[in-house]
Order: sequence, then C-alpha cells, then structure tokens
Amino acid sequence: MKAVEKRKQKSSLLDKWLNRQKEGTSPGKITPRPNDVPVPLSRGQERLLFVQQLYPDNPFYNYADTYRVTGDLNVGALLKSFEIIGRRHEILRTTFGISAGTGEASQEIHKDFAFEVIKRDLRTVPESRRVETAKKMAVKLARQPFDLSRGPLTRIAVLQLADNDHFIILTMHHIVFDKWSMGILLQELADNYRNLVSGKQVSVIRPDVQYGDFSYWQKDRNVDPETIAYWTDKLQSASPLLDLPFDYPEPDRPSFRGAHSKHQLSNSLTLSIREACIETKTTPYVFLLAVYKVLLSRYTLQTDISVGSPFTNRDRTELESAIGFFDDTLVLRSDLSGSPSFSEVLERVKETCKGAFSHRQMPFETLVGILKPNRYLNHNPLFQVMFIYHDAARMPSFGPGLMVENEPLDIGVAKFDLTLFISDEGQRMSAIFEYAEDLFAGTTIDRMHEHLTNLLEAILEKPGRRIGELTMAGDGELEQMMTWNDTPEPEFGDAAGIHQLFEKQARLHPDSPAVSFNEEELTYAELNTKASTLAARLQELNLDRNKPLGLFAEPSVDMVVGILGILKAGLAYLPLDAGYPQDRINLLLEDSSASLILAQRHLSGRIVKNPGLAVLPIEELCDEASPEPGAGSVRSIDESDAAYLIYTSGSTGRPKGVSISHRNLLNSTAARFRYYGTNPGSFLLLSSFSFDSSVAGIFWTLTTGGRLVVTERRVEQDMEHLSRLFAENRITHTLILPSVYRLLLESTTTGDLNSLQTVIVAGEECSASISRAHFEKLPDVKLFNEYGPTEATVWATVYEIKRENITRKVPIGKPIPGAQIYILDDEQNQVPIGAAGEICIGGKGVADGYLNDSELTSRRFITDTHSRRRGLKLYRTGDLGRYRSDGAIIFLGRKDDQVKIRGYRIEPREIADVIAQIPGVKEVLVKPASRPILPAGDEFDPEFLRTTLEKMNPEQASSILDSVERMTATEAKFTLDKEWQ
Ligand code: AMP
Ligand code: MG
Repeated sequence: MKAVEKRKQKSSLLDKWLNRQKEGTSPGKITPRPNDVPVPLSRGQERLLFVQQLYPDNPFYNYADTYRVTGDLNVGALLKSFEIIGRRHEILRTTFGISAGTGEASQEIHKDFAFEVIKRDLRTVPESRRVETAKKMAVKLARQPFDLSRGPLTRIAVLQLADNDHFIILTMHHIVFDKWSMGILLQELADNYRNLVSGKQVSVIRPDVQYGDFSYWQKDRNVDPETIAYWTDKLQSASPLLDLPFDYPEPDRPSFRGAHSKHQLSNSLTLSIREACIETKTTPYVFLLAVYKVLLSRYTLQTDISVGSPFTNRDRTELESAIGFFDDTLVLRSDLSGSPSFSEVLERVKETCKGAFSHRQMPFETLVGILKPNRYLNHNPLFQVMFIYHDAARMPSFGPGLMVENEPLDIGVAKFDLTLFISDEGQRMSAIFEYAEDLFAGTTIDRMHEHLTNLLEAILEKPGRRIGELTMAGDGELEQMMTWNDTPEPEFGDAAGIHQLFEKQARLHPDSPAVSFNEEELTYAELNTKASTLAARLQELNLDRNKPLGLFAEPSVDMVVGILGILKAGLAYLPLDAGYPQDRINLLLEDSSASLILAQRHLSGRIVKNPGLAVLPIEELCDEASPEPGAGSVRSIDESDAAYLIYTSGSTGRPKGVSISHRNLLNSTAARFRYYGTNPGSFLLLSSFSFDSSVAGIFWTLTTGGRLVVTERRVEQDMEHLSRLFAENRITHTLILPSVYRLLLESTTTGDLNSLQTVIVAGEECSASISRAHFEKLPDVKLFNEYGPTEATVWATVYEIKRENITRKVPIGKPIPGAQIYILDDEQNQVPIGAAGEICIGGKGVADGYLNDSELTSRRFITDTHSRRRGLKLYRTGDLGRYRSDGAIIFLGRKDDQVKIRGYRIEPREIADVIAQIPGVKEVLVKPASRPILPAGDEFDPEFLRTTLEKMNPEQASSILDSVERMTATEAKFTLDKEWQ
C-alpha cells in the first residue's frame, strides 16, 4: 500500500506540471483587494450564474456530499465548527446580484449570516427503513435549488438514525465551492470539532486570501497571447459531435437528469494498470484517459476525439487554502486516426495532455468566447463527454470515538452526456459513469462498463495491437447477438424456381387481375399463357443457360411478360432499361456476355445491330395466336440457377454485375410472406426493373395473387399524377424511396391514399420527420423501413416504424427471416452492442459474388466464421451500423464515400476518375452538396464532361452536370445535390 502510494506520487505527471508552473508563476502575488470596491465575479462564477439563470430550478450546479458519522456525535459542537468556518471564509456568506445600473454581476459579502440547518430525528422510523429514508432525504435536500441572490448557499442537514449514528448532508452551490474546497472544509471542521469538544479555545483566523481577492485579481488579468494562439490552433475547427449510442432521442432542451453507475475494477486489474503506467512513464490519469478515448472511438468510429476534463486552478500557493469555485475545464483533443496501436494512442494522448496542461491558464468561458463554436442548447460546445480522475479523499480525524465516512450520493444530475470518473481508492480503482438519462438507458451503461473492462484487459495484454482489433464484446453479448440472428426460415414449399409460385397463383385465381399498365391489364391466366408461350419459343432456341437474356423494355405489361417468360424458360433476365444510352447497354451486354436481347417491338430499332447479337420482339414471341404444342412446359430448374443479373455501381468506373439465384430470390420473397401480416392486394411498382427494389413488388405480388400496377418511368416527377395512380388503382402496398415519399405526403390529400395498408420505405435513410409526416396523414397505415443491398437480394433487415417509436435515427431493424447480420470491426470480429462497425449480411439472400470480378468478390464476399453453420458467405456491405440495446440496428452511413442520390448508388471516385481525364485537370473533389451549384469558369469543356458522364453514369449525368460548381483547366470541383433531387 505504501509503495503504491509512493509510486503514485512519483508518477504524477500532472503534479509535476503543476509544480513547475507554480515555481514559474509571475511575481505579482494575489493580495487582499481594496476595501471599498465592488467584488466582481470570477470568470467561472460568471458562467455558473449565467447557466443557473437559464435553468433557475435545476440543481445541476449543486455540490453535495454525504457523510455517515458513527459514535457519540456532539451536534452542537459540529454546527459551531461550521459557523467558525463560515466566519473564516467570506465566500460561504456571499450572495450574488446584478446591478440594476450597470448590469454587472457582483458578489455581496455578508457580515451576519446563518447557514441553512436542517435537523431530523429518524429514530421514529422503523429501523429497517432508516438508511433508505435518510438517503431519500439526502437526495431531496441535495436537489433543492438555491436562490443565488438571497442565500444562504450552504445547507447542512443532520439526520439522526440511532443514538450513535448520524447522516450529514452538505449541499453548497458550486458558485461558492468545489471539490478541493471540501478537503479544506473537512480539515477545518475536524480541527475545530476536536478543539471544541476538548474545551479548547478556537479563534477565527482569516486565510491569506479570500475568494473575492482572487476574482478581483483575475478581472484585470489577460490571457497570454501564446496561450490563446495555442488553443485557437488546437480547437478552431471543432471536433464533430460524438455519435454515441444514445437510447433515446436528444431533447431540444436537456433536462440534465442523470444517474451514476459504479463498477469496481479488480485488485489485479488495478495493479496491472499501475504497472503499465510505470512501464510507459505515464500517470494513471493519462493512461485511463487514453483508454477512454479508445472506447469512445470504438463506439463511434470517429477519430477526432475531444474530452473535457476539470482541474482546480489553484496554481498559486496562496490559493491552496481558499474555499471557492476554482474549477476550470480543459479540452483534451486527440487524433486517433490511422489505426494506431494503443501504445501510439497513449503517446498522442500524453502529448495532448502536456500541451493542454501547460496552456491551462485559459478560462474555459474566455476560450469559448474566442472560438465562438456553434452553440446548441442541447449540446455542450467543444466537447460532450468528460473525464475525471481523483484519489479518494483521506478523511481527517474527528477525534477518538467518532468515525466519519463518505457515503456516495447520486443526486440524479448529469451536466454532460457522459462522464467517466475514475476513483483511485488505493488497492483498487472504480469506474463511475455519470450519464444523461435523457440519452442513455442504464443497461447501455452497464454494458459500457463491461466494454471498458474488456478493453482495458485487451490493452494490458497486447498494447501493441491496433485499437480496431481490441476485443470489447463480452460472451453474454455475443450470445445475445446470436439470438437476434436466430431468424425463422422462409417457407416456399417445394418450389425450385420463383415462377413456380406464380404459376400456382395462376391456377388458384386464373381470372384475377395480375398486371396492369395504364389501360392495359392481364389476368393471371393471360399473363401465365403469354409467359409460357414466350418460354416455349425461347426454349426452341436452345440458349446457353449460363448466359443471361437481355430484356430491353419500357415499364409495361410486356416487361412483366418478358421477365416471367425468361424465368419459365430456365434463363436469367438482364434488365436493360429503355432509358439507358447505347454505351451503357453495350457495356452491360459485353460484360454479361448475353447473346440475345428480348425487346419491345418499338424499341428494337434502338439497339445497335451487332453480328453476334440477336434482337427478338417480345410481343411476337408471346402471341397467343400461334401457340406451340407443349407451350407452358417449363424446363427443369434448380434453385441454384440464376434468376436475374442486376448491375450496380462499381468502384472501378465499371458497373458490377450481381447474379441472383432462384434460391436467393425465393428466400427473399418468402421472407415477405413470413414477415408481413398482409400480402399486397394492389401493389404500385415505382422502381425501374433495373433496380432490385423492383423485385420486391413484382415477385411478392405475383406469387401471392395480388395485382401489380406498373407505372411510367419518372412518375415521381409528377406528384399529382402519382397520387391519382394511388387513388384510381386502390393501391394497398408500395415500396418507395423515403425522399419521394416525403414529396408524396406533402402534395397529396389523404383521400387519394386511403386504400393504403402498408408503405415500405427503402433504398436510403428514412428520417424521423418523414415517419412523423406519415402518421399525421395516414395514422392507420403501417410503415416499414427496409434495408438491403442488391448483393443480398433486395432486403436484409426491416423495422416497423410506429408512431410511438420514432427516434431521430430511424432504425433499419432486425434481420429478415432467413438472414443474419453481423456488425464487424476491421478484423472481422463482432463489435459489441452499441459500437459502430461494418454491417455484414449472411443467410440465403446473399449472392455468390460479382460477375467477372473474382478479386472484388473475394474482398466483399467473405467466409462466415460467426454463424454456427459453417461454410456460408457473408457480404460486407460497406455500410456502418450499430446495435441498439433492443437489437434494432441503426444505420450510420458509409465506410467509403458511396452516396445514394434518388436511390442510385454513386461512388464519387468513379466520377472523379472520369473528370480526371479532362486535359489539364490536376485534382478532383466530388461530394454531395445540399443545394444545386451552377458552373463557373471558362476553360472547362462541358461537352466533354457530358459525353463522358453519359457513357458512364447515364442516369445521373444530367443531375451531375447541373451541379457543377466550379471548373477550370486546373481545378474541377463539383458537387452532387442530395436535398434538391
Ligand atoms: P442498392 O444495392 O442499390 O439496393 O443499394 C444498397 C445500399 O443502399 C445499401 O448498402 C445502403 O447504403 C443503402 N440503403 C438501402 N436501404 C437503406 C435504408 N433503409 N436506410 C439507409 N440506407 C439504405
Ligand atoms: Mg436495392
């Protein structure tokens, strides 16, 4: 114990800095202020006064401590001791006022004073309930607000539990007190008490300086310009808000309600920490701060981490015995980027602390005044979390026969989102999280303790490991995450191909409407016959099963006939949107090695004739007038046969083909039967069949007997028309981009939508405001958020948004039937609940890989080592997410810079690569913007850009061109607009 104490002292870097600073303090000692001047507030006090005026009834600046006194307590002597302290320290008999004339705040020091004293005898309370009653009273008293203008600002409560058992509750307003002051007060209290009970004379000796002398002196002191320069350099561009795993939406105005959660570190862990500190020549303060930063970075995947840390700014000997508010806050900002090891982080944090502490003569409010960070009422500027490290105070002796012990007291207040206190109790340390109850649930904080401990153990074991590789999740948590993945199996009988489920419906309801487009409509029987005829014709051609068939069509009934006919023929369809330019079509045909294109008659002329490529008109092939014998007999199909090939964006500038098997598609579709309570009666198909989101509507509807309503391309650009479609077709279900849905809700009357039962938003992030707008307009219509990439067949997770569960970040929910989700770190380990990681998808919807790109396939489709079943594939989405405590997943954006614009996956690098080919362009920056920006600059050739973009990214070419911000021969910079589209 002794040795540990000594080591602690020796290694206290902080103390060293403080001492060095003391030696070097400027000669001007703080001396008593003149008698006749108004006493100003110190800068710290000004802040407290300001905040307290903002929240007059909030007890967050109450400082409270509770003591349990066993033995023969002389209450009279105790109160007398307090009174002597009050006479000695002016600040304890001070009130605060604002001068009506100047508007300046000043402190008024009173000669006559009385502390607020409360005495209660709890001996009448049944013994078993006394302590509990005392604690409740303690919290109540400690939470009672003070009136700063009237005082007294010190409240003493003495509760008698038994003859030799007392509870003392001390509450002060922070404006007159701090933690260090409590040490002074206890010492003086003990000295006075001992003297009084032994009958000695106790005189009131004024301390060297009073708090008012300090604030008077501070008023005229300017901050050293070098210090200002240091901080402005460090903090000018503030750290982004920490994206912590909040359980609840952030309130506009925080309540500052909070709670404490304490967890003791074991003796051996404490010892290991101390040993690691000696080895690395750091203090436990710096070491544990570094661990905390790693924890925060792992939770958020952010690397610019600012943590606030309070310190007592009594760096002059004459202030050491002054009571008052000397606390100030340092912003400790470190850069954890570049996947450093913990040892490296420790060095960086050491540097951070060294710099910050040697420039600590900078009142926090002055700093905020200089930096003027964005101020939000619901966020602390510059940092949102705190770190505090303190040695447990040694209790002075109150004389023989009296034992005084500090009792922890949680008064239910949190000034910050999250504070980690490390209390060094000698043998062991304790970690205490103080957390805002507006934001966190207790269970999340319990887990945080576990993660902190796991992280500490992992660090101590291998400090050289990269921080992204340190295991944090506990075993219980891994089990818990397993159960979230324990999804039911989708059921689809003995079907081996998706079209077989459609055929079953055609047998069951031959006369029900199956598909319509404008005036045209086919029943199930008609659609089935046409598709079968087409299939028979295709089979005659003996096509290679391994090659997809291009389907070149406008949104139409024929498009659906084409899809089903191709599937029935045992082939896979490659959707070629009629809106695609020739270059893109050529690229897809070449990459997929399709040998034949099925096209609507009026479009066939648009396909450039190519000797190796046959173009056949759909209409003729499915003409019932000439049915072939045996039409409708479907050739045998295997679940592993491909059903469609859809292209999505690719980082190489070439689109990537994803081949989806019947097994993938059957599972993806049958998962809907299981998950959704109702199947579509009438489904409005809004996405182009070249997107896999179209698959949801086409196959869900046609395999359950509903009516598929096909819409014209870009129908979303005419909201009036769109709402008419809903009304005229009595639409029950649809799948829609949230951004389009917002517009629909804004521009449509409820009447047009009153046949709706289920709305699915998918393809991009859904906001709380869209969800709210939905329930305002359509309170009885169910709303679901579906998430999933093309590579995992349309959807992988889903969340039912309800009026009562709308949070700022709308979750993407839990894995769908048959799917598993793993949120993984850089080493493909599961991150714990609450921490951010890459969303990886397993299960039966996952495709085999990309066509013709085994290198990319092996990077993105990895072996699933987490599932109990072996040999399966996981698709790494590149999306970031975290588990909420209830297992719902929160989407956190992309790992790379891919963006979604109007539902299109766009990789800015692809665009940048193309622009970089413009002669003279040296550097390109592509980013999504919040508003359209028009071109400027003279040397740039828009035609070149247009043709290049149209080749590469036809759907977006025009929007991108509209968004060109600035382009000269040497600099090409443009931005894509997200909001405006
Ligand atoms: P796609 O392959 O075109 O379907 O695009 C898949 C990507 O769209 C995903 O990897 C996500 O980045 C994004 N995405 C899809 N659905 C959602 C959703 N509900 N919330 C947020 N992002 C989504
Ligand atoms: Mg999709």
